[in-house]
Amino acid sequence: MSSTSCCNPKELASAHLGPALAGAPDQANPAHHAASRPSGPSADLLVIGDIVTNDPSAPTAEAMAISGGKIIGIGSQSDVEGLVTASTTTLKPGGFILPGLIDPHMHIWTSLLTYPNIDLSHELCPTLQDATAAIKKAVSQAPRGQAVCFKNFDPSLYPGEPVLTRKTLDELAPDNPVLVWNASGHFMYVNSLMFQAAGITDNTPDPPGGTLYRADGTLTGVVGEPPAEELILKGLPKPSMTDVAMYIRQILTACAAQGVTSVREAATGALAGPKELALLHQLNTESRFPVRVSTAQFSVFGGKSPVEIAALWKAAGVTPFSGDEMLRADAWKVVSDGSNQGRSGYMLQPYLGEDNGAKADFTPETLRQAMKAGLDDGWQVMVHTNGDAAVEFVLDAYEDLLPGYGTTDLRHRLEHCSITTDDQLVRIAALGLSPSFLMNHVYYWGAAFRDTILGPKRAGRLDRVASAYRAGLRPSLHSDYNVTEVHPLLSARTAVLRKTKADGHVLNADECATPEQALAAITTNAAWQIHADDRGTLAVGKAADFGVANGNPWGSDPDGWADIAFQATYVGGQEAWSG
Ligand SMILES: [Zn+2]
Repeated sequence: MSSTSCCNPKELASAHLGPALAGAPDQANPAHHAASRPSGPSADLLVIGDIVTNDPSAPTAEAMAISGGKIIGIGSQSDVEGLVTASTTTLKPGGFILPGLIDPHMHIWTSLLTYPNIDLSHELCPTLQDATAAIKKAVSQAPRGQAVCFKNFDPSLYPGEPVLTRKTLDELAPDNPVLVWNASGHFMYVNSLMFQAAGITDNTPDPPGGTLYRADGTLTGVVGEPPAEELILKGLPKPSMTDVAMYIRQILTACAAQGVTSVREAATGALAGPKELALLHQLNTESRFPVRVSTAQFSVFGGKSPVEIAALWKAAGVTPFSGDEMLRADAWKVVSDGSNQGRSGYMLQPYLGEDNGAKADFTPETLRQAMKAGLDDGWQVMVHTNGDAAVEFVLDAYEDLLPGYGTTDLRHRLEHCSITTDDQLVRIAALGLSPSFLMNHVYYWGAAFRDTILGPKRAGRLDRVASAYRAGLRPSLHSDYNVTEVHPLLSARTAVLRKTKADGHVLNADECATPEQALAAITTNAAWQIHADDRGTLAVGKAADFGVANGNPWGSDPDGWADIAFQATYVGGQEAWSG
């Protein structure tokens, strides 16, 4: 798990990565891409093995015939033999052949901000001493004077919520500038040499909206909120375009290694506008990505209004469903509040120990403008909502706006939809919306929500998969990478078990999904939410997107799902990754 700052990078990320993208093309129009290969009457690929279809009418098969990237026959070997010719290639991979998994909300671009940094997550550093030892070790291995950066330090998971002070970091790193990102993204911790590299002294004024924390006029090393964090980033070397391209491929390869064949990038354009999509097209043309990428165009960039940003996307050739089968622009993204574990999600009731429940990122009017800009251009809209007040606020806006846009099946979404009331689930259903849950909130932060952030009653209303199904919704599960790792089978396990990592406590058993519901949420429902109805099952007419694994979640105890390992994935019948 990592940064909880999530989808709203604002100017922060562009201060660090924006220049690396300056050389990317301006036009994202992928018209130059080759058309997909047409399916023919005979198979170019025959797959034989233990095939798990996720199709209730025929849950297993022993052979699958593929042509032009689509499944043209599936069943017993005799069922498909009429589709096989002398030129058909046969694949017998061993293991279980599973439908490709789908992560319908993750972040490539904002994850790049800290991608190469050294990971101090609670997973790797269970105690504060582990974290400080990791800092000391990494610094000792770096050349003297070179900046060393860390990510995912999460005091909310250590007793007493300790911070790293400048004094502590100076002791750990006397000869190197050091920067440690708090997992929330709202804070960073730096040493004296990092302040020096950034040109910041005790006399540097706080920028509007940011804080360089001081004690008796002296910088403590704690830096709060993006405007102040930006000042620190200016002291760091910038990644090159080559670095950025390499990181993108590494991120997508890590998705494939978890059996994923499709993702939605949930804030495309947040750092550099349409150039980001243009760069993705360029990279995918140079060498096909290991997973299909659906993009959600971000509505905030460079201080422009959402209407101006919508015009920028259009001018770059990016319209709803433009692109191709590997990389397609599908949605319009709006962020309405912060993160609950960062105590910036917009709540109906105050956070524990505080007298307020944070605020929305918009006024009701500006929220409507941001959503309307996408609706006017025919986009599927996905709105980030973490707190229950944010859900309420966004539902009000959807209720006002949607009647003006006819009945087109755009499948508008609520992202995270983390804390909900019963009434809100009814309203979501009435509006024809669907939620996507960041399911491992329960696993990683469930105990902290219960004990220190929200209290047990409200924490029980976290990620209500079972109630969503009872309300007639089609929920999906997502990672929000790099908030948590892309690992759909771990998310699905959490949806069934709802156990917290800290103490194994079941966070409201009434919300435990059935195994079938959890698996649908990472396959068919996720496919439906990203407008990819040809994915999520293995059946005639569907895309030949599959993984080869050493276990079958459709036929095994959810306790073991997260340990299932993949050895290869195929996208459109072509090998996409092998481990
Ligand atoms: Zn997100």
